[in-house]
Amino acid sequence: MKLAFPGDPFAPLRRPTRVVRVGDVALGGDNPIRIQSMTTTDTQDVAATVAQTERLAAAGCEIVRITAPSVRDAEALGEIRAELFRRGVRVPLVADIHFTPNAALVAAEHVEKVRINPGNFADKKKFEVREYDDAQWDDELARVADRFRPLLRRCKELGRALRIGTNHGSLSDRVMNRYGDTPRGMVESALEFLDVSEDEGFHDVVFSMKSSNPQVAIQAYRLLAASLSERARQGKPGDYPFHVGVTEAGDGEDGRIKSAIGIGSLLADGLGDTIRVSLTEDPVKEVPVARAIARRVESRWADAERSRVAVPDPGAPFVDDPYEHARRASESVASAAIDAKPSHVIEIGGDAPVRAELSIGAPPVDPEAAAWRLADAFGARREIACEGLRLDVADEAALERVQPFAEALARHGVAAPLALRMSSELAPHAKDLAARWIVPVALDADEVMLSALARAAEAAGVALEWSLAGAAKPSDSTGAAALVSAVESAWEASRALTLRRVLVSVAAERPVPALRLVAARMRALGWSAPIVLVHRSEDGASDESELLHASSDLGALLCDGIGDAVALPVRGGLERAGDALALAYRILQGARQRTTWTEFISCPSCGRTLFDLEETTARIKAQTQHLKGVKIAIMGCIVNGPGEMADADFGYVGSGPGVVNLYVGHECVERHVPQAQADARLIDLIRRHGRWVEPE
Ligand code: SF4
Repeated sequence: MKLAFPGDPFAPLRRPTRVVRVGDVALGGDNPIRIQSMTTTDTQDVAATVAQTERLAAAGCEIVRITAPSVRDAEALGEIRAELFRRGVRVPLVADIHFTPNAALVAAEHVEKVRINPGNFADKKKFEVREYDDAQWDDELARVADRFRPLLRRCKELGRALRIGTNHGSLSDRVMNRYGDTPRGMVESALEFLDVSEDEGFHDVVFSMKSSNPQVAIQAYRLLAASLSERARQGKPGDYPFHVGVTEAGDGEDGRIKSAIGIGSLLADGLGDTIRVSLTEDPVKEVPVARAIARRVESRWADAERSRVAVPDPGAPFVDDPYEHARRASESVASAAIDAKPSHVIEIGGDAPVRAELSIGAPPVDPEAAAWRLADAFGARREIACEGLRLDVADEAALERVQPFAEALARHGVAAPLALRMSSELAPHAKDLAARWIVPVALDADEVMLSALARAAEAAGVALEWSLAGAAKPSDSTGAAALVSAVESAWEASRALTLRRVLVSVAAERPVPALRLVAARMRALGWSAPIVLVHRSEDGASDESELLHASSDLGALLCDGIGDAVALPVRGGLERAGDALALAYRILQGARQRTTWTEFISCPSCGRTLFDLEETTARIKAQTQHLKGVKIAIMGCIVNGPGEMADADFGYVGSGPGVVNLYVGHECVERHVPQAQADARLIDLIRRHGRWVEPE
């Protein structure tokens, strides 16, 4: 049975959930999104773990997870809990359990919540390929349930909460063989454990469905929400809160971008009651990132709840299948800079990669200096190309500055086509000046005038981008109706053209629901013009906020398969154009739309970690980040590392103090390599598999 999208994709509200108490902290229901993190110290080093937990709590972390790989670690949790209480730190603790049901039972005595992974709680995980018939399946499931029941009973007696936390890549052999390593397998695996919990009358359950691939995480959480709604329709409880996160996101900007794409997209759809941003850095640094993502979404949820808009039916879904990524089909539109060589023609839409454009404001008063600054900024980023420059042309005086600027760009070797954003009155005067006109289309658009404009663009040989206006924000029902009406006006005006050199963008405060509505209405009309995703900065946003906001909004749409180009503003002067361009490409890579650099999957580290992950990741990155399209995992331990590195091509995994195992895919090809030799052996492995290129 095909499940519907969980919630309203065009006017999302927070998913209603029960409240689950974790010590003094209530999560779910109307509570704020709770921020959590995990310690990276050795759990048996009680002093270090207490100190790090205290730092996390002081930074605003509301729930702290600590790994308990053995019974002795679980016992240490008792000392940690007691010492924290002695110091007046009441932050709830969560024991992280993999493979050791006995440790879970001990941990439940000391901490407020226990996290188990259904893939390895009591099931096998040996990457064994084997068919299970129904009888074998049921026997295995009954055995797992028997191991699980004592923990549930003890948690119930002690008032502990439980997280059923499934991870992509660490499903049990049993589930993997039936469902594959898929979002469906992740959900089925979690629901098996929910069945046992409900059978024991235990309902203080929180779910997670993490993956290092934001697309997989988004699909799995959506599918879980839809499956739980289906259970609710059958009279079973389905309102369990979600812990949302992207695992092994890595470090630095890429880690933040991936987290914002995955977590931000899910929260935007109302899914998520507690979040953890996993970075390969000091865990304290995760807290402000998580808080920034959470607080922005909470204000949107409040806004949506207050207004509860009725969005007009667009007549078609916004995607074919919300549980599987497929890029929206579109026609391709070509554009080129003035006097560009044929090799510099840029196709947008169709099979072309999702393009990266920059909005640089008004045409510069000093074209030579501006072109020089852009050339300099782009020259420092030779691996990426600016594929369009967007200018805001307010009046005729600004229009007159376009030609000298275009000529200066050509002199400085900047080959990006120009797109001019201007009024419909001004556009016909812009003949020959640019590759594209960007013209606003509002609710009261005059269709006769729009048609004339479309014909003028066609006669001038330029592409036309309809910038659809209509707020479509949750506090504005008429905004959604205006947007639908703007789509129809633009479609009518474009229909008469013989050459369909038309694109669509949306000027909306809430781009995700707005663009989905536009994509759905265009689908209903049979209109496949490419869509440009334009990000607008919020006033006064810091660089980190800008990165998180752009990643959440653009990433959510890209993961939905919507978007043929992204356009980011250049902030802080044209000399920073390279930074804005790099952010655009990093978002495209994070959303798995366009690969420019090596993809790094690195775990955040925890008490199991066998080497300095932050330093090792930085060292390996420095040597391998030029390998376009190669995925390298750097994982702290062999207990979870090989499973959770999911779809990496090569793996570097701690296998003991001072030694690592090297992997090709999931196959361990070199064991216990001394760490001093491991970087060179990894590079040698990449070379032997034909994936190495020398850095320029
Ligand atoms: S892979 Fe990393 S974060 Fe996960 S359990 Fe191992 S060391 Fe901890």
